[in-house]
Amino acid sequence: MYDLIIVGGGPAGLTAGIYAQRARLKTLLLEREFVGGQIALSDVIENYPGFPSISGAALMEQFEAHAKKFGLEIRLAGVVDISDEAGVKALKTTEGELKARAVIIATGAKPRRLGVPGEKELTGKGVSYCATCDGPFFRNQRVMVVGGGDTAVKEAVYLSRLASTVYVVHRRDKFRAEKLLQEKMEASANVVLLRSHVLKEIKGEGGVVKKAAVEDIKTGAVRDIEVEGVFVFVGIWRRALPAYSRPVTAARPRSCRWLPPSGTGP
Ligand SMILES: Cc1cc2nc3c(=O)[nH]c(=O)nc-3n(C[C@H](O)[C@H](O)[C@H](O)COP(=O)(O)OP(=O)(O)OC[C@H]3O[C@@H](n4cnc5c(N)ncnc54)[C@H](O)[C@@H]3O)c2cc1C
Repeated sequence: MYDLIIVGGGPAGLTAGIYAQRARLKTLLLEREFVGGQIALSDVIENYPGFPSISGAALMEQFEAHAKKFGLEIRLAGVVDISDEAGVKALKTTEGELKARAVIIATGAKPRRLGVPGEKELTGKGVSYCATCDGPFFRNQRVMVVGGGDTAVKEAVYLSRLASTVYVVHRRDKFRAEKLLQEKMEASANVVLLRSHVLKEIKGEGGVVKKAAVEDIKTGAVRDIEVEGVFVFVGIWRRALPAYSRPVTAARPRSCRWLPPSGTGP
């Protein structure tokens, strides 16, 4: 029996592990794929204080070493269900059943993809889901933002301070973002609003983004726009665990979409 089991070995899970070990809790971290989480896939990280430029994999190796230094036990196993048995949490995992007094779910979230041609192949090569992470790579270049909610508009404003031109593609006539954010976006001289437009395809050349094909849904006209970056902000899928997806709904972020219990999300 563990005091604490942490589900997920990304930055959040490893950080929780460090604190738990320092609190002298008997802790186990379970990770179903590879320790490090999504950030381990990033080539360069430039926004983590103390590390002006480091690869995601190298940063996560340091997180893991740090957690292990305090004695964190890490095992590769996926958690498929959690149930509460008189205050004790029983975890069904791909490697058998485990018990703990408490569980921290740090299973991360995934940006929702558009599913248009070119998106998957060019992710990390001009297609991004994080302006804070990747915006500085597009200084004085042309970028496109897809989405019409708070996140899309906020990130468009942020990108307008870096990029030469920011095209904002939104499928509706009106933006859903809060009015203040919209005003900021509209006041940015280098933001071009493409209302009632949808992104149809992202086109690459030499393995990087070169153009984006957009359709005016009122006229049906499709045209190519030359851009070096495409930022997609159309929602987030939270990776939920079936038994625990309900009790934490109150804390979900506004743009969050829930994985159905069958786990059919992206
Ligand atoms: C390509 C890319 C580049 C990025 N670049 C930056 C950047 O430069 N700067 C920045 O600040 N952020 C960046 N991000 C965002 C950053 O990766 C996330 O904010 C961060 O990884 C979130 O950490 P997390 O621990 O909450 O979740 P995750 O990193 O998603 O970790 C969750 C972990 O839980 C595991 N897991 C899920 N379900 C289960 C289960 N049932 N059982 C066991 N394990 C499970 C997953 O396998 C995963 O390892 C980038 C993301 C990507 C994809």
